[in-house]
Amino acid sequence: MSGKNDAAKTGKIAVWWDMKDCPVPEGIDDHRVRPSIEGAFKEQGYSGPVSITAYGDQKQTPEHVLRALSSTGVAVVHIGSESTCAVMYLDMVKWREDNPPPATMMIITNQMLDVFNWDLARLQQRTSYNIFLAYSIRPVAALFVYTRKEWLWEKLLHRTTSTSVDTAGELSTVFHCEFCSLDCQSVKSFKKHLSTKKHAIEEVLNPQPTQLVSVTKRWGKNYAATPEYATAKIHVSWDMSECPIPDGYDARRVRPSLEGAFKELGYSGPVSITAFGDHKQTPERHLHALSSTGIDVAHALPEFIYGRMFDDLKQWRDNNPTPTTMMIISDGAEILLGGCLARLKQLKKYNLFWAYSFRPWKMSVMLTSAEWLWDSLLAVSETKRHVLRKCSGSSESVVESTGMFYCKMCFSKRKRLDKFMKHLSSKKHISEEEGITEHVEASEKRRLYCLKAKRMFSREQAVEESCLVEVEKL
Ligand SMILES: [Zn+2]
Ligand SMILES: [Zn+2]
Repeated sequence: MSGKNDAAKTGKIAVWWDMKDCPVPEGIDDHRVRPSIEGAFKEQGYSGPVSITAYGDQKQTPEHVLRALSSTGVAVVHIGSESTCAVMYLDMVKWREDNPPPATMMIITNQMLDVFNWDLARLQQRTSYNIFLAYSIRPVAALFVYTRKEWLWEKLLHRTTSTSVDTAGELSTVFHCEFCSLDCQSVKSFKKHLSTKKHAIEEVLNPQPTQLVSVTKRWGKNYAATPEYATAKIHVSWDMSECPIPDGYDARRVRPSLEGAFKELGYSGPVSITAFGDHKQTPERHLHALSSTGIDVAHALPEFIYGRMFDDLKQWRDNNPTPTTMMIISDGAEILLGGCLARLKQLKKYNLFWAYSFRPWKMSVMLTSAEWLWDSLLAVSETKRHVLRKCSGSSESVVESTGMFYCKMCFSKRKRLDKFMKHLSSKKHISEEEGITEHVEASEKRRLYCLKAKRMFSREQAVEESCLVEVEKL
């Protein structure tokens, strides 16, 4: 990973800049854009060649600005404001196809959260570049896109600039009209072109896309294993409260069913499974059957299951370097964990499977290599009897070891089911559960109180401010 990152630090850096969202503030010399960006990258240890493209309605941009940009090697694209994001994204996708990683992308925009976030996060999960972001307005929520560093645009322009400004000559700066697909070599010819009738007609006849064209939406669901992952380890985190064992189903068939479904796609690596649930409610015969097929059983109260599942996956991921596959069996976990898993996947490469009891109404930001409906997944071993690990004298689904029993509320473990059940009904466990629940309830109350206080404060402030306006009017 570090070797790859070292290569990225000397690799290409491409910058896409939305001039309308992030204009050069008044009082700052337009010549500073390139050296400021280069300086900021140098501070982060990145020294590769930087190409910068500025997007905007260039009919509105004064000539001296265009001249300053072009003289410092910033390419300029003319596009309508409403199409800037869509065209920038098409250019980014094209650049990614032409420039395999390691390489670095920087996006200067206020639209990362609202426009680029979902599709770019999915692209990044398949092919990861180092991403840097600058904005004049900070995104109001956490991004799915994992960024190495984010800057406030104005602050970035005020920073120490790089000393080697003399790169302009090496770059073939062009002015590009997106409507006419035309390059101009000088400010004069570009400005002249933008004022021609021919160009005005093209702007009308050749409208540019205004909506971002998703690259990943049509990506398939179930892919055959690539050689890298075919024999790699697989870890399954299963939420039994959402995807339970159906009535009348033999719990010993869960493991062979999963392994059978993986094999159908060409995955034959060792599979570890952890079954999360409120196991005070799970029939003991199920727990026994799961453990006897080498499935770990983990007890957590329903409101803690997602958090414990994520901890489990993350810990397993940290202990098992790539290539590996992780799987979640859950409906709701995606809503809470999807963004985290997507970010983790951009940071550390791994393969992801997902099973759910009903098909989600909207495509997840998590990029999966395979998805299944829980019921149809469980049916796999019914039709095909997969012999999993050949043990002498056994016919099907035999594993060498039995699964452990974990209490994820007390963070303790037991080897035997009877000891585990005894623990779950013990005073110690019950008071531990009550303590955690009370603590969570109290912190939730505190959080709501803070929110309320904040809202009250802002209302008071608003009242005060409106009073001031009234006073000023007098
Ligand atoms: Zn044109
Ligand atoms: Zn416990």
